Amino acid sequence: MAKDNPISKVVASHRPDLDTKYVPIYKHFHANPELSHQEKETAAKIAEHLKQTCPDVTLHTSIGGHGLAGVLKNGSGPTVLLRADIDGLPVLEKTGLEWASTKKMIDLEGVEKPTMHACGHDIHITSLLAAAELLYKSQDTWSGTLIFCFQPAEEKGQGAQAMVDDGLYDKVPIPDVVLGGHVMPMRAGTLGTKRGLMASSADSLKVTLHGKGGHASQPHRLVDPVVMAASTVMRLQTIVAREVDPADTAVVTCACIIAGDAENVVADNAILKLDLRAVNAETRAKVLSSVKRIVTAESMASGAVQDPTFETTRNFPLTINDDEVTQRLEESFTEHFKTEEKGYTASATKLGGSEDFGILATAISKPSSFWTYGGTDPETWDKVAAEGRPGDVPINHSAYFAPVIMPTLQVAVDAYAVGALTWLLKK
Ligand SMILES: [Zn+2]
Ligand SMILES: [Zn+2]
Repeated sequence: MAKDNPISKVVASHRPDLDTKYVPIYKHFHANPELSHQEKETAAKIAEHLKQTCPDVTLHTSIGGHGLAGVLKNGSGPTVLLRADIDGLPVLEKTGLEWASTKKMIDLEGVEKPTMHACGHDIHITSLLAAAELLYKSQDTWSGTLIFCFQPAEEKGQGAQAMVDDGLYDKVPIPDVVLGGHVMPMRAGTLGTKRGLMASSADSLKVTLHGKGGHASQPHRLVDPVVMAASTVMRLQTIVAREVDPADTAVVTCACIIAGDAENVVADNAILKLDLRAVNAETRAKVLSSVKRIVTAESMASGAVQDPTFETTRNFPLTINDDEVTQRLEESFTEHFKTEEKGYTASATKLGGSEDFGILATAISKPSSFWTYGGTDPETWDKVAAEGRPGDVPINHSAYFAPVIMPTLQVAVDAYAVGALTWLLKK
């Protein structure tokens, strides 16, 4: 890494020892994941660690559930918020790692679930803790205010909004800029920023179609919700094919159909669970309204006993990286990280999934930028790339997702620290 620029010097001389101090902490979080809205032990561990390493940080806990924010005031200057999400997923870990999770948890519906940090939020937590220590120790080199924000319930798309609704910005100063990142199935050691659209919006709907059940032998006395559901699902496919501009992109997926139980009993209702994605606000609104129009019309065409009911189960905003903020990151990341194929790029690909990170900025009309970094073992990555099988690398949410701890952790720590110092370093 280029070490001659002022930010790199601060980072290199204040970065805590990751191998001895933070790798064990990472393994602890990895082995002890908690589901969204239930990150109690995780939050307690984060608070305990921050109190030890950064005693002068003002800590606010239990914000929007198990959210935490630590504030470090260090003279005049800009305020930067660094965000890490902290929740795990209901996935049975199959990585075979020594520090693999064997945890189970009762979810909010009362069902016991295996639990895994299958999205890498354990890397996010650990790297923000290490970056906090780095920035705490280097206070003589920068001036301004830092907010270390540990956000719960990202996987549900609810944690950022919950923190805002619970008065996050009454407790901590309003940041001038909001920064965050995510570990991805890319070569470890790589890091990328992107201006503009970073992640699509996501809307999840639970739709109930109301038929009239009864004996399977007497269709003339029933309104069959299974046929209604089948026609609806097929017709929904025409939204992207026939209503969305071919130059635009959107996704309409029916990921779940629930209806009936026995082969000779027709159920009263069918439930569809839909996942909708869009890359701009107009298309998002259009797709949502088309879904409602088609579901309602198919219900009517089938003679449903009442209009369908719609319930929104999740929604994520569009993630838009501010051009000016991202440009400043481009400059410092270029100085600090190598800018070749195996290092930093200013043209990262957008996320496959969606994120609620942006809410922490849009709620206060401030700019933000979200970067990505690789977590795949470089040897594995190079092998599958050489063999033309990049799809074989386990992705986020897979039971096999296992970021290689180093250099992933160091890139994650440095990105937070370099990002913050881009605004705060004394001139
Ligand atoms: Zn995830
Ligand atoms: Zn994630």
